[in-house]
Formats: sequence, C-alpha cells, structure tokens
Amino acid sequence: MSTISVAGADIDTRHFIGGVRVSSTETYTNTSPIDGTFLGEISRGGATEVEQAVAAARAAFPAWAALGPQGRGALLHKLADLVEENNETLSQLETMDNGSLLRSHRRGVMPRVAMNIRFFADWAMNELRHEPFETRGHTNNVSWDPSGVAALITPWNAPLMLATWKIGPALAAGDTVILKPAEWTPLSASFFADLTVKAGIPAGVFNVVQGYGAEAGAALVAHPGISRISFTGSVPTAKIIARAAADNLTPCSFELGGKSPMIVLGDADLDLAAEIAVEQYDNAGQVCLSGTRIFVHESVADEFQAKFAERAAKITQGDPRDENTDIGPQIHQVHFDRIKGFVDRAAAEGQNIVWGGTPNADLGGLYFTPTLVLEPTPGAEVVTQEIFGPVLTMMTFSTDEEVIERANGTEFGLAAVVVSGNKDHAKKITDVLVAGTIWVNCFFVRDLRAPFGGSKKSGIGRDGGTWSFDFYADVKNTVVSPNGWKE
Ligand code: ADP
Repeated sequence: MSTISVAGADIDTRHFIGGVRVSSTETYTNTSPIDGTFLGEISRGGATEVEQAVAAARAAFPAWAALGPQGRGALLHKLADLVEENNETLSQLETMDNGSLLRSHRRGVMPRVAMNIRFFADWAMNELRHEPFETRGHTNNVSWDPSGVAALITPWNAPLMLATWKIGPALAAGDTVILKPAEWTPLSASFFADLTVKAGIPAGVFNVVQGYGAEAGAALVAHPGISRISFTGSVPTAKIIARAAADNLTPCSFELGGKSPMIVLGDADLDLAAEIAVEQYDNAGQVCLSGTRIFVHESVADEFQAKFAERAAKITQGDPRDENTDIGPQIHQVHFDRIKGFVDRAAAEGQNIVWGGTPNADLGGLYFTPTLVLEPTPGAEVVTQEIFGPVLTMMTFSTDEEVIERANGTEFGLAAVVVSGNKDHAKKITDVLVAGTIWVNCFFVRDLRAPFGGSKKSGIGRDGGTWSFDFYADVKNTVVSPNGWKE
C-alpha cells in the first residue's frame, strides 16, 4: 500500500520525482512517537532514485529559471494559499509523525510554513536588488541568477517548518529542488509535494526523495549535478556531507547544533527569567536553539531556582494532540535511549539532578520528564554535549567576565539568551557573546528579514532576506562601460 489516510487526506509514502510518484523496491516502517502507531511503509531511496531526481530537476531548471521572480512568485503564492487551506491536515500529519504539539502546528507552525514561502517569493520580486554604482564611469549591476538544483536535507524536529526555510528561497531564487526529509518524519514533505502540483508548479521543479541519510542523503550530496547543498542537522553528519561536497566543490549551507547559554544577570526580572527558562523545554527539548546551559548570577540564584521550579512543576506532559499538553514525546526510541543514556550517566557520575531524570512512568513510551542538572562538574558531558532532549543545566556565576568566558567556552555558537533589567549591562554581555542569534529578555522571536545561522561549529552561512539568495543564487556583477555604444 502506498497511501495512508490522515485527517481525511491520502498521503503517498513514495518518492515524488519529475511530477510523478515513484516507488522503491525496499521500504522502511514509520511509526508515530505518540503511541507507536504504525503510520506506513515509506519508500527507501538510494542512488537510483537520486539519479532520477537530479535528471528531473535539471530538465525542469531552464524553464523555471526563465519564469523570473514574478512568474515564480505567483505560483509560490498559490502554494502558500494551499498550505493555509490544508492547515488542519498538515498539522495533524506533522503531529502524528513527529509528536510535537498539534495546537502549535495549527496556530503557529503551519501559518509560518505558508509565510516562509510567501516571504521569499516577495523578497525575490520586491527587495532583491542592489543599487548600481559607478567605477570610473562604469556601472556595476549586481544580480542573483538561478544556480541549478538545490539539494535540501532536513531534520525531524520541525520537519515542514525547517524544509520551507530552504524550499521558499531556493524556489524563489529560480533553483529547482530535491528535498530529502529526515527518515523519521517523511509525511509532511510528501503531502506538500501534492500541494505543489495543485499550485501548478511544473513537474521536476520540486522533488522529494525519501529514505535514510546514509543512503538517499549520501547519494544526493555526492551527486555532481547538484549546485547547492543546504543541510540542517548534526555536526557529525555535516562533516560527512562537507567531505562529499568537496569532490564537486558544491557550496554548502549548514545549520547545526547548539549548546546555547541562557544568562540571568543579577538585575533580571526573575519571573520573566523563569518563564523563559521553562520555554527551553519546548518541543521536548528537541530544538537546536534551546538555551540548555542556564547561568544565573549568584545573588539571585536561589530565588530564580525557586521560581523556575514552581513553573517547571506545572508543565503538562502528554499526548501532543491534547490542547492542554505542553510537552509531548521524544521523536524515536533511538533518540529516547540516547537522551536517557546522558541522564543515566550523569546520575552515575553523581551529578545533582534536582528534578526529572527519568522516563515519565505515567505515560510510558517515549515520554521523558523535564530534567534539571544543577551545577554539573566542569567538563561533564551533560554541559558540553548537545543532548537534544528536555535536559537543562543550571550554574551560578559571580562576575560578568566569568559568565562571558563560560558562555563562550563551547564549540557551538548558535544562539544565546540574556535576561537583564539594565540595557547597558545586557549590551555589555551581548557585545561579546559569540552566537548567530541573541535574544534579550525574550526567546524564539524570528523575523525572516533577519540573518539566522550559527557561529563556530553551529553552522556555515546565514538564512534570511538577501542572505538566503546569496547562497541559493549565483551572485553576478555585470560591469558596463560608458563607451562603445552604437545607438
Ligand atoms: P539527527 O542526529 O538530528 O537525526 P542528522 O544530522 O543525522 O541528525 O540528520 C539530519 C538529516 O541528515 C536527515 O535528513 C538525515 O537523513 C540526513 N543524513 C544523515 N546522514 C547523512 C549523510 N551521510 N548524507 C546526507 N544526509 C544525511
């Protein structure tokens, strides 16, 4: 069977290549993290399907590129309309497949998916320009030309949201696309492919190859017919992809992990700080941006911890389809075991686990309780490694200099949060933190006009506004002399 029914819609579990559904001889089983329900047998692609997809995407490229920003923009707006019309199906599908909250998919994520498409379509049409400038009377004209076929490799923690951060600008830039969704969350990409057909996007412009990273993903990033690789995922996988890309010198954009600091200064509003701290458990901690190292000034540490504990105790864990649920399950048994391994080893090392620390006994399955490790010993893996689960650490500090050094003392540099009641004090800290995004007295505010990405091992490149087009497009400067014209 190659279709499954979710929320009244048929979801095809095969690849989508050149505008048609393609199956593989092999499949893999996809289950829901909510309760282990069988969701479908998914086509397991590899080099053969990648070859077909690259051929289809290359064939579709000249006509898509020739459409120009306006022609592409009209179709992309239709696609965004269809995402909005299918909000309920997409929300239920994504929740079944990855276990994150249905209410946030309905109200926040899926509207944002539509926005990701609209925003970059509009940016290409209206904002993507550089004023011509003169060099000794010659005019420099900067343009962003379509580059070819973009390979997009995406993770499971926010599947369609993160995919459309890439699909939006790649298609708007005039590239054709091959998406390889994460193997644990294949379904929303598959349904999205049907929406591209309904929107009138020509066959071959958008393709989906399903399958494992080491098979479909590896074949895709090694293919010489790819002009760009955009990847969101882990540092070890990024290194493998970079090596494969090196053979063809394919440009890569990487958004990788983090071990972000959240710094609560002595002058902070501690109620606000506690609210923000609780948000770091969102999506069961499966958020690359999460501020998992909470540094609190020693003068307010006890008061902050009490407020944080009070709020954390109110977190409702359960079925993500329930309106009252704050935190759902982990994505997969393999990932659950990895998180549990970190926490069990921390306990065995004698680290101070002040709450959580165990699977949720009431729920069973893949539900791990929100956990806090207090004052882990310096260098402990719980404070150096990205756990990607509901496991936070809290440490006290004495001086600004100390917290700056400790906050920056990581191989990552994705994000940071600073909570302070004093603008100058906050600025003193944010000026020297190394991170792609810093939030002051807030968390998770993301404007698509702003650059987004990671410093150090958290990534290469930035998404957002023109930064996205600088990556997906071939940026060109045409220098025109005032001489030689015949008319
Ligand atoms: P995680 O550890 O969070 O699952 P990964 O970085 O392994 O993150 O996976 C993110 C995405 O990268 C997934 O779509 C996965 O299939 C893909 N992937 C994994 N290994 C490779 C690889 N060798 N080449 C290309 N893509 C890969």
